[in-house]
Amino acid sequence: VSALLPWLSVRSQKPVYKDAGQPVETRVKDLLKRMTLHEKVLQLNQYTFGENDNPNNIGTEVKNLPAEIGSLIYLHTDPKLRNQIQRKAMEESRLGIPILFGFDVIHGLRTVYPISLAQACSFNPDLVTQACGMAAKESVLSGIDWTFSPMIDVARDPRWGRISECYGEDPYLNTVFGVASVQGYQGEKLSDPYSIAACLKHYVGYGASEGGRDYRYTDISPQALWETYLPPYEACVKAGAATLMSSFNDISGVPATSNHYILTEILKNKWRHDGFVVSDWNAIEQLIYQGVAKDRKEAAYKAFHAGVEMDMRDNIYYEYLEQLVAEKKIQMSQIDDAVARILRVKFRLGLFDEPYTKELTEQERYLQKEDIALAARLAEESMVLLKNENNLLPLSSTVKRVALIGPMAKDSANLLGAWAFKGHAEDVETIYEGMQKEFGDKVQLDYEQGCALDGNDESGFSAALKTAEASDVVVVCLGESKQWSGENASRSTIALPDIQEKLLLHLKQANKPIVLVLSSGRPLELIRLEPQVEAIIEMWQPGVAGGTPLAGILSGRVNPSGKLSVTFPLSTGQIPVYYNMRQSARPFDAMGDYQDIPTKPLYPFGHGLSYTTFVYSDAKLSSLKIRKNQKITAEVTVTNAGKMEGKETVLWYVSDPFCSISRPMKELKFFEKHSLNAGESRVFRFEIDPMRDLSYTDATGKRFLEAGEFIVSVGGRKLTFEVVD
Ligand code: BGC
Repeated sequence: VSALLPWLSVRSQKPVYKDAGQPVETRVKDLLKRMTLHEKVLQLNQYTFGENDNPNNIGTEVKNLPAEIGSLIYLHTDPKLRNQIQRKAMEESRLGIPILFGFDVIHGLRTVYPISLAQACSFNPDLVTQACGMAAKESVLSGIDWTFSPMIDVARDPRWGRISECYGEDPYLNTVFGVASVQGYQGEKLSDPYSIAACLKHYVGYGASEGGRDYRYTDISPQALWETYLPPYEACVKAGAATLMSSFNDISGVPATSNHYILTEILKNKWRHDGFVVSDWNAIEQLIYQGVAKDRKEAAYKAFHAGVEMDMRDNIYYEYLEQLVAEKKIQMSQIDDAVARILRVKFRLGLFDEPYTKELTEQERYLQKEDIALAARLAEESMVLLKNENNLLPLSSTVKRVALIGPMAKDSANLLGAWAFKGHAEDVETIYEGMQKEFGDKVQLDYEQGCALDGNDESGFSAALKTAEASDVVVVCLGESKQWSGENASRSTIALPDIQEKLLLHLKQANKPIVLVLSSGRPLELIRLEPQVEAIIEMWQPGVAGGTPLAGILSGRVNPSGKLSVTFPLSTGQIPVYYNMRQSARPFDAMGDYQDIPTKPLYPFGHGLSYTTFVYSDAKLSSLKIRKNQKITAEVTVTNAGKMEGKETVLWYVSDPFCSISRPMKELKFFEKHSLNAGESRVFRFEIDPMRDLSYTDATGKRFLEAGEFIVSVGGRKLTFEVVD
């Protein structure tokens, strides 16, 4: 035995935390034991790297970086540089703890796919999982371990610029697509070679910013918090999302970043999340502006106590946490818990075992053929045919000359949308290019810009009109600059700038049928334009591959299948307007609504036309009365009664007409999308689980299922059943 001792002691020199064969929790505990308070506090900080974007600074920046830093927002996204920085952490720090590299990969990295609001219109979560998986791969190959995505803030005010970043107005859609994207980013497990950690943001209620202004307070009732804003987070936490970001807004006066109730009581105690929370950009310091901390030290104290583990960019934790521990205002056990959460994510990602990234060329990393094809498929299913009078679309074979007019027709950069920092305008297929490819020499394509996106220069109007006059059909491409949505990009009106409306009205003089193509980051006010045109397609901001799908819809090669994830108000003054409003006192014909406009929005949630006709029939329930613990199945037959293959999304809504509290008029609880050949029928089913689908929460989040009558509706049919005790 004694002969074995030296060998044993050499073996035991390999610290447990470096042993990939040990369970994550064992490794976390072992590493924590070895860390000094200073080293622990450094793990709780995230710095930005590359913010001033000066290549000459990189050397100094790397040199000045503490090797023990927990995380970086890594703006360079270059694998070589990542490895250089990571080597510093692994080799120059005492314990060799890898840095977690984060970046805003929001709707793709270099292969940019459609904005989230559009993705949700596809009603195809599998495609979104695939697209996020593709983004994760490009990210890993760029040295990124962690994305600040998905954004699952339910948003009902399209003036808010960030509506483009979420999955629309409905909690269920944000739930389904949030989970789909977490699964795409994180893969089967975080340690898979092309998985990155997801970050649910912005926790919570940011979408309710008053008046659609960014960074403002919210007035969210406890009921709305539980019913509308929290459910997507709960589902994504259950789906394994590694991290969350606290939001800028307050909830009942307490900023999310210092809100113990939401960060600790709900997230950690009730939902048992064991990853970590990062503050939003400078959000800890902003507690001072929000009026709840008198200085940076108090801000550190409040955010940390509430349950924010990582300080994004403020350097406040770095400056004050050690002091606060010395003053006994923060316990060592709290620090340990916070550090353990961050280390856990790093271990799960496999960063200790594989800290470095492959150094491939840009050509090898980005824009692979199959990635662009996937972006195109998602774009195709996201586009929504809003109007199609006299079946103008698809364009008939008698159309020989198309006038392609408008500021979006040859635009590329704006099709990328907000938050596409690594997208390149030259990667983008424009509408014009897509049309050329689609129609070849079968159709003569005459282009005129007509006007810019904004301004008052009408000098291009007359050439545009001439082109329109010479055509069989006019395709007018209008829309928004990518700067008009996203962060800090709210607008007081959701109408297009005057110049664009004027251009379209001017083209009316040509007396030709008009197709209006829109590219925007939000629903638009179309009250003046809609009556002037025969057809409208909302293509959103589709990313790199929108031209061909749009042209395919125009030609009829593609049958449009997108449906709105968000209501199109008739006018800005109608906001807020969303499908799942609560039942109210006088629900009769416009009672209580505005006197000067109709009650109905222009296009409701779920609206979207097809070139074929889907007929719903035989809607029925498996029984008319169930007990609370029984399930009930609703079904409906859908027949493609037209001549063209098409995809239909069947939307299942539930309403609870009488309950102890006023419930939303209806709520989407399930959907399914399938392709049907011409003449084909298919039975769609929805299995209703009463506790999941018919219950409601009270103001404390407790779930109740009351006996009584419920209505399930599908394709305009209503089926009533009863739940008994
Ligand atoms: C935004 C976040 C984003 C972060 C990092 C903030 O200003 O609100 O959505 O992830 O910056 O770029």
